[in-house]
Amino acid sequence: MTSYKELGLVNTKDLFKKAVSGGYALPAYNFNNMEQMQAIIQACVETKSPVILQVSAGAREYANQNLLKNMARGAVEYAHELGYDIPIVLHLDHGGSFEICRDCIETGFSSVMIDGSHLPYDENVALTKKVCEFAHSQKDYVTVEGELGVLAGVEDDVSAEHSHYTQPSEVIDFVGKTKVDSLAISIGTSHGRAKFKPEQCTRNADGILIPPPLRFDILEEVEKKIPGFPIVLHGSSSVPIEYVHMIEKYGGKLTDSVGIPEEQLRKAAKSAVCKINIDSDGRLAMTALIRKVFTEKPDEFDPRKYLGPARDELKKLYAHKNQNVLGSAGQA
Ligand SMILES: [Zn+2]
Repeated sequence: MTSYKELGLVNTKDLFKKAVSGGYALPAYNFNNMEQMQAIIQACVETKSPVILQVSAGAREYANQNLLKNMARGAVEYAHELGYDIPIVLHLDHGGSFEICRDCIETGFSSVMIDGSHLPYDENVALTKKVCEFAHSQKDYVTVEGELGVLAGVEDDVSAEHSHYTQPSEVIDFVGKTKVDSLAISIGTSHGRAKFKPEQCTRNADGILIPPPLRFDILEEVEKKIPGFPIVLHGSSSVPIEYVHMIEKYGGKLTDSVGIPEEQLRKAAKSAVCKINIDSDGRLAMTALIRKVFTEKPDEFDPRKYLGPARDELKKLYAHKNQNVLGSAGQA
């Protein structure tokens, strides 16, 4: 049994309060290897941004939960060594069961998501409530994110054929009964790098897909029902066309890639949205740079020589997100 405080981590409670009143969102970046972790911490220290390090079910399987926990501990020390202590949260992304959440809480996670969004409403309430009771009764309060509404798309083990927008009429009851600390809602974001089918989009003069706008009307309705309550957006990568083109230039194939425009996320971050999950953009940045090195230097076989440039690009991307999209820069 490890408490997150022993690792130097914090939960999301105070961070969300400040983000909601300050009109910005915290970055929630997924990681499962050292280069991603270095890029996240370098970018967040440089921009003085608090950060949520996210671990998905796939990451737990790929990298081992204990190793990831100790990487988070290392991240705290790394930030300190870089010269600026930023608040760091270790968060379980899409916890699929009470047992997984309990396991992570006992391992040293400071925050967990219990995703019962695919369940009938009453079962979602019961499961989320059970996780909250356990998390909140720990010696050091662990924060819990719940979800109402289903996102389309694919993210590791999370997949849903269709999106069901969050129903604003349900949020007061859900938050009241479960006592969740934050709520992920569905307003048209989507997991993965092909967030919409081409027929859902329009095309600009260059033939680039333009997605349908987010449902800000639903977000406003939710905010009216639960004023100031921390809202979370999943599946909020923008899928930068430069990375898609770079990947395709160097031999990749990413048909029909489309993400959420950054201006829309910036607008959402100014509201009660206080956590924005970004994973696919990081994957694209790393892949683009690795492909470039492989194509331009076919004799290269030192992993540092292709993971290094990928890491540097990732850091640039995250610093840009903190400064220009989330508004979290300068808030640590
Ligand atoms: Zn998600």
